Amino acid sequence: MSELRKDPVIGRWVIIASERGKRPTDFATATPKGKPGSCPFCEGNETMTPPEIYAVRSHDTLANTPGWKVRVVPNKFPALRVEGSVDREGVGMFDKMSGIGAHEILIETPMHDDFLQNRSNEGIMLLLDTYQKRMVDLKRDIRLHYIIIFKNEGERAGASLSHSHSQIIATPIVPKRVREEVDGSLEYFGYKMRCVFCDIIREEKRFGSRIVYESASFISLCPFASRFPFEIWLLPKRHMSDYSLMTQQESVELSECLLITMKRLAVALGEPQYNWMLHTEPNTAVPRNPWPDIRDHYHWHFEIIPKLTRVAGFEWGTGFYINPTPPEDAAAFLREVEG
Ligand SMILES: [Zn+2]
Ligand SMILES: [Zn+2]
Ligand SMILES: [Zn+2]
Repeated sequence: MSELRKDPVIGRWVIIASERGKRPTDFATATPKGKPGSCPFCEGNETMTPPEIYAVRSHDTLANTPGWKVRVVPNKFPALRVEGSVDREGVGMFDKMSGIGAHEILIETPMHDDFLQNRSNEGIMLLLDTYQKRMVDLKRDIRLHYIIIFKNEGERAGASLSHSHSQIIATPIVPKRVREEVDGSLEYFGYKMRCVFCDIIREEKRFGSRIVYESASFISLCPFASRFPFEIWLLPKRHMSDYSLMTQQESVELSECLLITMKRLAVALGEPQYNWMLHTEPNTAVPRNPWPDIRDHYHWHFEIIPKLTRVAGFEWGTGFYINPTPPEDAAAFLREVEG
């Protein structure tokens, strides 16, 4: 059973996943495994994963057999588990709690080399709808305070299998990075009575220089204070704190905006490895929800980070970043390529 431990100085929680049991020799750099045939995510190899939680499949097929378009399964080596209760405990001056949560793998496509930027709009929409469905389902469990959905593409981005997949992790606390965003948006709302993200969108539209792509309902841009070269945020223009409140029509438009943005990134940088993270509001159904007005001040978004530089001593030591590419240059470059 893994456990959560709290850093007593800055209050950051860490998951100690002892059952992943890595010894020094396990950390030698491995290239992503998985070829068609031996890959547990390929169609035909359904028995190589734990039984599916959710799938979109043709209705004449059975669970855990071929015939699916997307498939969600529990992680075979989960960082957190659903079973049990949230037990908090003090160990001397330290705080810890049981590793309750969920850790799911969303297999985005039955085909092995079907990279995101080559998929159709419908393929992306299926993925984004599955994000919504899993989020709604997991939020019913009020032990789960936050659901983060993310994607690691490529070995440098942390993927251990090359077959396209996303991950969903539900945690019994709101992670520090998310808390900082939510608190920051609340503070801004407190003196301006406006959403900081809505203000960013308005301001970026006025300048135009950091916009990558814009449709009627969505915008992708290189943020003013980008930490990394070619960092991109993608936001709905309509104020919306919760990703699961998106309408079907908006979901069609989001898949278009996301696909065009990712294609441009792939063309401009030669299919870079990347991470993306979906930041949405914490679960508001939990007891003593600390942000009763979150619908007013928070605004969901994707953060897309191509892996072009390595985080090193200065960044680790300070939480401060050196970005060698101005976001205005990155956005101009991305606007020029066809995608
Ligand atoms: Zn595969
Ligand atoms: Zn907003
Ligand atoms: Zn964010």
